[in-house]
Amino acid sequence: MTNVEKLLKYQEEDEKLLTVERELASSQERKNLAQAVNFVTKATERLEALDGKALTLSATLEELNKKYAEVSETLAEFENLDELLEGGADITFYKKSLAQISEKLKSIKQEVAALTKAIKESNEEFQTLYTKNRAMQKQGKEYQEAYEKLKAEKRKESEVIKAELAKIASDISPEVMKGYMSKRSERIFPILCPEKAGRCSKCGSELSLAGKEKLLTGGVVECDNCHRYIFKP
Ligand SMILES: [Zn+2]
Repeated sequence: MTNVEKLLKYQEEDEKLLTVERELASSQERKNLAQAVNFVTKATERLEALDGKALTLSATLEELNKKYAEVSETLAEFENLDELLEGGADITFYKKSLAQISEKLKSIKQEVAALTKAIKESNEEFQTLYTKNRAMQKQGKEYQEAYEKLKAEKRKESEVIKAELAKIASDISPEVMKGYMSKRSERIFPILCPEKAGRCSKCGSELSLAGKEKLLTGGVVECDNCHRYIFKP
């Protein structure tokens, strides 16, 4: 067996390993888990934000209620209005004050109503999201278990392939293996591909004259463009 043949055999087995890795990465189990984790992360952030919002809204409501009470108290001054008027006080002045106070109270009431509505809506959103989040956390645990199970299965498959790979590699020169593994880590695959009409059959880039000559003597050249190893088939 030539070096190229050995390396091709290695690559063929290596492709099985890649397939197993891809199967795990693109599995429904992994997608489900990723979605659940994403949901829980975002929901938790939103719940925290709503919690903070609830505190601010409550504090504002408390202030408004205080203000309402204060303004209401000023109405007490009008209790002795009859006496004041009998004493010759200006009724126009009191009428104007009363109208102003009543307008102020009305405005505070409106603010309180709007705020109460906002608090209610915020609480409802919190409750709904909290319930959903709890359900998703539970579901996420099931997804996690399913993914771990699949991962363990794939690991077993990988180990069998890796043992076979080690066996094949033991017959290949370490220098060649080093080059192959370096390209493998760069996510180039397949690493070894045949020449086709003087070009790299993977990316179509034309080989140099020297490269073509080297191929004729049974050597391997690197494609200038995609950096794969090219051999004469
Ligand atoms: Zn190429």
